[in-house]
Amino acid sequence: MKEIILIKDGELALKGLNRSTFEDVLVKNIRWRIKKYGDFQFKKAQSTITITPVDDNIDFEAVCYEISHVFGIAGFSRAAVTEKNIDKILELAPVYLKEQLNEVSTFKVEAKRADKKFPLTSPQISAMLGERLLETFPHLTVDVHNPEITVTVEIREDAYIRGNQTKGAGGMPVGTSGKGMLLISGGIDSPVAGYMMAKRGIDLSAIHFASPPYTSERAEQKVHELLSKVALYSGRIALYTVPFTHIQEEIKEKCPEDCFTLIMRRFMMRIANMLAEKCDCHALITGESVAQVASQTMLALGCTDAVSSLPVFRPVIGMDKEEIIKISRQINTFEISIQPYEDCCTVFTPKHPKTKPILADIEKAEEPLDIDALCEEAFNGIKKIFINSDGVQNG
Ligand code: ATP
Ligand code: MG
Repeated sequence: MKEIILIKDGELALKGLNRSTFEDVLVKNIRWRIKKYGDFQFKKAQSTITITPVDDNIDFEAVCYEISHVFGIAGFSRAAVTEKNIDKILELAPVYLKEQLNEVSTFKVEAKRADKKFPLTSPQISAMLGERLLETFPHLTVDVHNPEITVTVEIREDAYIRGNQTKGAGGMPVGTSGKGMLLISGGIDSPVAGYMMAKRGIDLSAIHFASPPYTSERAEQKVHELLSKVALYSGRIALYTVPFTHIQEEIKEKCPEDCFTLIMRRFMMRIANMLAEKCDCHALITGESVAQVASQTMLALGCTDAVSSLPVFRPVIGMDKEEIIKISRQINTFEISIQPYEDCCTVFTPKHPKTKPILADIEKAEEPLDIDALCEEAFNGIKKIFINSDGVQNG
């Protein structure tokens, strides 16, 4: 029996003329994600993408698992393929859906005729198949309003038979909203922020500031593990790691203690801006949430933004910690995030940070530093790796 996967676009249906471009990106993303499982042919028609395996013995479960994490998909299902012939359809449906139908007690049949030349109407197909299923599975009854399973027959190039659709990851295909630079720490919030923006179609690159020997190798590995979880949804992420030790030591030596965190965050923003420009990213993304910590008061965020020429996206800005944690559990980053490794922020945290900073004061506090030279030096030390859902990938 030949089996395929049918994908229903998500929000794409709303996008009018851009539709086709969006679908192309979605197809490219899916293709990239499942190529390790074999060769597949892709076809697009009427808001459905059909994926047909070229090889036999495809691991459909693994492929569907991968697909369930790709943004831009409302729903998907495996389907059996047969000729556009009603006898074949009536014969195949009870066999293909046997296991699923044995597990439920109510069903309905829905027929969709994309090929209007097919000799039977949709209601006729539904009635005939409904009758056949009732004969074959005497325990079943029809429930047109609230069935446990909807058996769908689609008449397209061939006839496709399927059971319930699985819900997709939703959102927009990654890449359709351009590229963004995620500032990723080892904490709970920034991986969630990355996930949320990827869901809006942003193609993520990531930047991490490390301060060895104050921060450990293990802290960097933790960031790799977090990004690997995000990459299951977003696709491959380029991670840029910035040597941040010298900057932090300079700040500690030359600036007032209550400004440490803010000055450090302004350096992060400057360097992230430099990198974003080089990588064609048009926004920065952080995991900041108003009032969560001292550096995240409205005035502090204003001082941070003052050095960014790019917009800073903060998707968790209005969420409380519980709401953020809920998402981090869903995407399996929570258990990694709570592992206790020092982040560069925690290393030099002042005892009494300014919560109502004034920009002019912060600028004054920065005066003893050679900002351009420090940024340049850090920028030149950046190391790049790629991370996908299987972990670190070189090249
Ligand atoms: P998170 O849980 O994401 O670490 P947080 O509540 O601990 O956030 P901060 O440590 O103040 O908050 O950091 C705020 C944001 O700054 C983070 O969400 C992240 O986007 C960015 N950030 C913090 N530390 C780093 C770092 N070492 N490298 C890159 N970005 C960082
Ligand atoms: Mg943090």
